[in-house]
Amino acid sequence: ENNLLEVDKLQVAFRTDKGEVVSVDEVTFQLKQGETIGIVGESGCGKSVTSLSIMRLLGRTGLIKKGAISFNGRELTQLEEAQMREIRGNEISMIFQEPMTSLNPVFSIGNQMLELIHLHMKMSKSEARAYAIEMLKKVGIPRAEQIIDEYPHKLSGGMRQRVMIAMALSCKPRLLIADEPTTALDVTIQAQILELMKKLRQESQTAIMIISHDLGIIAEMADKVLVMYAGQVVEEADVFTLFDDPKHPYTVGLMESIPHLEHDSQQKLFSIPGTVPHLHAMPKGCRFHQRCQHATEQCVTQKPPLLTIQGSNGHRVRCWLYQEEEQVVSGYGQNEV
Ligand code: SF4
Ligand code: MG
Repeated sequence: ENNLLEVDKLQVAFRTDKGEVVSVDEVTFQLKQGETIGIVGESGCGKSVTSLSIMRLLGRTGLIKKGAISFNGRELTQLEEAQMREIRGNEISMIFQEPMTSLNPVFSIGNQMLELIHLHMKMSKSEARAYAIEMLKKVGIPRAEQIIDEYPHKLSGGMRQRVMIAMALSCKPRLLIADEPTTALDVTIQAQILELMKKLRQESQTAIMIISHDLGIIAEMADKVLVMYAGQVVEEADVFTLFDDPKHPYTVGLMESIPHLEHDSQQKLFSIPGTVPHLHAMPKGCRFHQRCQHATEQCVTQKPPLLTIQGSNGHRVRCWLYQEEEQVVSGYGQNEV
């Protein structure tokens, strides 16, 4: 079992005016070199916080409370900021929907790309420039030979996003974290970017963590999928099993809310009645019980553990409906709660 990334019982909290709130709880998953994991769930479910924890970019109010994040044999939660800086952008790259580490307005696109490429790819100046232009073309930037000398404010938001993607991919990271990478882009460019990510995976065995509310993208890209709800993993399965045989009532709801093809693509997503519970007021028992049509008394009072479906290949679900199916030998489930 050669995992590139192992996240183990991760718990992340944020300090707020009303005290500390746990936003990610007991999140566990593994990712091998060259493998793609998809993370789905409504906004606020902890998808982005999970990825920001791996990058150690939680800001001043965020804190990893428990758990471990092992990357390529190193424990990221223990590293100094300087060591983390070497890993970021080199071994682990991240693409955000709204780039947090946005482009520096003072330097031209080329300047910023060349610095990065020169630093990490060991190329001469002219090689680096040719490579940067090639990467800009690959993300669908027209007139890349001219654009490379422009300053960021001259570009549209969509173009800046593509420059950010070109930068993230140009260093051939071992792990690429893509958080809603193409949400702001039009369909053609979106398809181009996804193709580029697939190519990178094929050529460089890059592991990819793709976070999206778009199940179509998840189905197209992911080998396995985590479904998150209210800060927890509620289901995990390989992509075929998840789409074929979803178990958790929340996942079933997500599947049913997939819009039919291209019509009203965004609107119908997540039409499960009710809303995600607030972090300050997490319900007892199952966190989904207020929205679940199968909820029983047990669901209201007892937290369901993540159970492994018997006879499956690592299909896990956090739901009392499957307590009979618990695979006792897995060590994941608990017999008593
Ligand atoms: Fe629904 Fe109960 Fe399963 Fe929660 S544990 S998803 S409330 S059936
Ligand atoms: Mg997010």
